[in-house]
Amino acid sequence: MTGTATKTQETFKTDRSSRLFERARAVIPGGVNSPVRSCKSVGHDPIFINRADGAYMYDQDGNSYIDYVGSWGPMILGHRHPRVLEALEDALALGTSFGAPSRLEVEMAELICEIVPSIEMVRMVNSGTEACMSAVRLARAFTGRELIVKFDGCYHGHADSFLVKAGSGLATLGISSSPGVPEAASKLTLSIPYNDVDKLREVFAKKGSEIAALILEPIVGNSGLIKPNEEFLKAITGLCRDTGALLIFDEVMTGFRVALGGAQEMYGIKPDLTCFGKVIGGGLPVGAYGGRKDIMERIAPQGDVYQAGTLSGNPLAMAAGLAQLKFLRANKDAIYKEIARLTDRLHQGLDLAAQKAGVAAQISSVPGMLSFFFTNNDVTDYESAATSDTKLFGKVWRGLLQSGVYWPPSQFETSFLSLMHSNREIDETITVFDQVLQEVK
Ligand SMILES: *Cc1c(COP(=O)(O)O)cnc(C)c1O
Repeated sequence: MTGTATKTQETFKTDRSSRLFERARAVIPGGVNSPVRSCKSVGHDPIFINRADGAYMYDQDGNSYIDYVGSWGPMILGHRHPRVLEALEDALALGTSFGAPSRLEVEMAELICEIVPSIEMVRMVNSGTEACMSAVRLARAFTGRELIVKFDGCYHGHADSFLVKAGSGLATLGISSSPGVPEAASKLTLSIPYNDVDKLREVFAKKGSEIAALILEPIVGNSGLIKPNEEFLKAITGLCRDTGALLIFDEVMTGFRVALGGAQEMYGIKPDLTCFGKVIGGGLPVGAYGGRKDIMERIAPQGDVYQAGTLSGNPLAMAAGLAQLKFLRANKDAIYKEIARLTDRLHQGLDLAAQKAGVAAQISSVPGMLSFFFTNNDVTDYESAATSDTKLFGKVWRGLLQSGVYWPPSQFETSFLSLMHSNREIDETITVFDQVLQEVK
């Protein structure tokens, strides 16, 4: 089944989603289990999804959408990829959770170490939040220092130390940090603008010997998509090396997506520790952190740094993730080339449509991820991303939705493409974007 270009805004109905949302709001805070899904910032009620297939999602009212959220990154092969479903069925027949070691965990760890050269040892967890939180604890233990440096608008999950000028849902809701985080915790986190080499040097000059780790999204997805500049990446690696601070790449979003070996393969950088999530789980709840052996050996029970998980390495999650990673590795060249081609096609099409409509727009993309910002400014950090006309973004988002394109419901998120998006879906998206811009400008 595919979407059709004949869909019109007149046939768009959301009665069933609305009724579910009403029930949800009575028993779930805000009616959703993760804030961005509420679609609040784009002036809409959430759409309740019934099922998904390939590049499409289908809601409770029978509307179909070309999906650019892709479960926020995991679905790089599209929804219901046959290899992933087969692996899940096989694993299901053997039991859903053991609480004891199993073969798939070993295969998963071996595969990650093989794909990502900076990873010598890896520990599986259940989310990206857990991965980042654990990596920071480990960095603090290993260095005997307490300060963490992060960048404004980067999101590393919702652990206390990261809710300081964080991106993603916090940026969407216009809150830079959260009540409930002790001041003592946020005082240990220094947040500075992304791509700002001078600020970075200043912080390291003042505090270098107290910094346990520098954590960053090597390509930012949680302020909308922002790319790092070369000088910035050079400064980061140099300053960490000179001061003994550990370099942590948060590749929860970029890992196995922008290239098989993630952003670190793309930029030729070997971080000390790396966090994974999203793609690594094939659509099931998985995260992982890994890196240098001498650091990872500090984790219990080999070492003294505690970190554990009842469902960590869960057989269903390992089966889905492994199947996805193996398929990506086996077809590496073809897959990443195709996703890059599709992303470029979308980038160029949206760019042209914006020019045609005379709307100031910055379009930013890397293979498999793309954002548009309605601003005249170059988008290089959170502050410049925030100059975007979010009202216009909301209007465009609603237009896209009603015409069958499910775009991430926030200016401060990136879209995700999958291997199942073809020219047909990309071109339909461009046509719809073009029509919507003509209507709203
Ligand atoms: C999504 C994300 C996280 C958090 O992962 P969860 O699985 O949602 O806890 C952390 N870091 C980055 C870069 C992310 O994109």
